[in-house]
Amino acid sequence: MPAPRAVLADVAGRLAAAGCIAAAEEAAELVSAAPDAHTLAAYVARREQGEPLAWITGAVRFCGRRVLVTAGVFVPRPQSEELALRAAALLAAQGPGGWAADLCTGSGAVASHLAAAGGGATVVGVDSEPRAVDCARRNGIPAIVGDVGAPLRSDAFDVVTAVAPYVPTGAIGILPPDVQRYEPRVALDGGPDGLELVRRVVEAGARLLRPGGWLLAEIGGDQDRALAPVLESHGFRAVDVWHDEDGDLRGFAAQTTPG
Ligand code: GLN
Repeated sequence: MPAPRAVLADVAGRLAAAGCIAAAEEAAELVSAAPDAHTLAAYVARREQGEPLAWITGAVRFCGRRVLVTAGVFVPRPQSEELALRAAALLAAQGPGGWAADLCTGSGAVASHLAAAGGGATVVGVDSEPRAVDCARRNGIPAIVGDVGAPLRSDAFDVVTAVAPYVPTGAIGILPPDVQRYEPRVALDGGPDGLELVRRVVEAGARLLRPGGWLLAEIGGDQDRALAPVLESHGFRAVDVWHDEDGDLRGFAAQTTPG
């Protein structure tokens, strides 16, 4: 619908009053997603309650592409784009005909980038939540319901990625209140030290990857230290980590021993 400045300013004012940090950008998104004024009013009311913007508009931008996000599915974060970019570069470097598995795929955002920028590789997604698997399929990703990497073939993949839950249970309470209230706990809570699922991702990666293949997963805090011996004991070497512009740890890439 047309977006008169007064409408945008009104929506932005309401969102700012409700505590939205990027109120102007969010207002623009809601206004352009709403087919009419009545729908816009409903969208604004939902956002004022703290419902994720992506669930209301039904999509988010990730690595420059529109990714559909069904209500109830973990919203892909900008912080995960670096992982997707690095994984796509490693995948493309293998040459044509590569294979990648995205574990805990959620909406399939990382998988979508690998499919688009991974040099023509075949990409599959796995998630334990049927709702997420449906969403990933809507994004064009062949996805299956399963536990971590369980449904997939051993020794078959060039790259394995995962944005698994990694928040320590005791730190869930410091996530933004809206995230706690709305987003699926199963996509956030990584157990006592946050690494319960990530350790299982490492184990799955060691099984699924061909010799010389790469595992990339999101982590935070100082989890790289606790994870180092786990990676080593599963035969990974050349472990690299990256940080965001605030200096916070965001992920690691590790290579299995080349055959
Ligand atoms: N700190 C992250 C977030 O809420 C945690 C995401 C996750 O566990 N996958 O954005």
